[in-house]
Amino acid sequence: MNIDTADLVVVGAGFYGATIAERAAAEGFRVAVVEKRNHIGGNAFTYVDDATGIEVHKYGPHIFHTSSREIFDYLSRFTEWTPYEHRTWTTAKGRVYPLPINLATISLFNDRAMSPAEARAWVAANAGGIAEPANLEEKAISLIGRPLYETFIRGYTMKQWQTDPRELPADIIARLPVRYTFDNRYFNDAYQAMPKDGYTPIFARMLASPNIELLLGCDWHEIAPARPAAPVVYTGPIDRYFGRRLGALGWRTIDLHLETHEGDFQGCPVMNYADAEIPFTRISEFRHFQPQRPCGDQTLIAREFSRSAGPDDEPYYPVNLAADKALLRSYRALAATEAGVLFGGRLGSYRYLDMHQAIGAALTAWRRHLQPHLQAGVPLRPMADEA
Ligand code: FAD
Ligand code: UDP
Repeated sequence: MNIDTADLVVVGAGFYGATIAERAAAEGFRVAVVEKRNHIGGNAFTYVDDATGIEVHKYGPHIFHTSSREIFDYLSRFTEWTPYEHRTWTTAKGRVYPLPINLATISLFNDRAMSPAEARAWVAANAGGIAEPANLEEKAISLIGRPLYETFIRGYTMKQWQTDPRELPADIIARLPVRYTFDNRYFNDAYQAMPKDGYTPIFARMLASPNIELLLGCDWHEIAPARPAAPVVYTGPIDRYFGRRLGALGWRTIDLHLETHEGDFQGCPVMNYADAEIPFTRISEFRHFQPQRPCGDQTLIAREFSRSAGPDDEPYYPVNLAADKALLRSYRALAATEAGVLFGGRLGSYRYLDMHQAIGAALTAWRRHLQPHLQAGVPLRPMADEA
């Protein structure tokens, strides 16, 4: 089987593409998966470092979390789990605080024990009466008050997005819980865990069907002129699909600097750095993601430096400023004219999607659009997961 004889072509072997390919192959369709990198797994790819035996998340730390039983059960077909609830810390002006902002953070910040009611009153007194927050800064101040915003959010956000928080959408910060308890779990979700053998083996199992042909190191845009008759699921960047002919959407990329150290470097999986003067946003220490595994004398850490993505950089996060939103509308209108192609995933839909959301969107697109298309010829909707 090859691209010309496949029933379905999937561009990208990340969670969105792998889920679609797995579902289609399970129903007997022949799927060609085209991946430009030389490995599967998209940005969730992990590998074991030869020298230390430590599992590295090559494109940044990935923690699985979802409240959807369906998505957790689906992924559990391909992996066993290690119990893991993510807890993060942040260093601000030489002191360490727990994140997300909770009663311990607020008490430490004020240098005294505070009850939930006292903490709420203190935040309210500093929140500045913003009724309808219009951007990230206003949203953050309305949630946690100005002093906490300026200490923990402003510098970090500037480093991460290279954009004034007043120009960023409010929903970026709404992702982080704020708690008036001592619960310092990063996520609220019912299911939180690490895949026992890492993420890459999940993809190997999802793509193991004899109905799937995997073409690694193959850029769709280099073979696209020979467009197949089969429908295409495209999970690369939507602007790149169209040769950026309307302009480039704003993406943010990350440079990860890997270092080996002796012993335990920081005592926790992720330490954020809130101060604007420190050039990186956070440090991940991979062995703390799988604390049950025996570890040697050495440790591996990754410092994260965030910057705007140029045309040849890996696009990681959609920036989504007002101009991007307008451009995206134009690309979506263009996509609507591209018969037989479905755009999906974080890059294809230009949406901030966590892993469980990418899997959920793919399962929905499969059920509602691709399966009816492959079985009964129902026309494809180009942005099927936008429903
Ligand atoms: P991707 O994983 O990006 O896969 C797309 C694939 O398409 C890539 O492999 C790419 O090489 C391929 N591709 C692109 N263009 C072409 C082309 N022209 N031809 C062939 N192939 C192509 N989610 C969580 O749930 N928890 C986390 O803790 C978490 N942390 C994250 C940390 C970082 C630093 C980043 C960047 C993301 C994080 N995410 C996290 C999000 C997670 O990475 C995404 O949800 C997931 O990768 C989305 O899957 P996808 O298939 O849509 O995209
Ligand atoms: N954020 C911050 N300080 C922190 C952690 C997060 O200002 O210590 C802000 C930042 O703007 C970030 C957003 O909260 O983009 C969402 O946090 P999350 O951890 O989800 O960040 P991501 O790396 O996924 O963007």
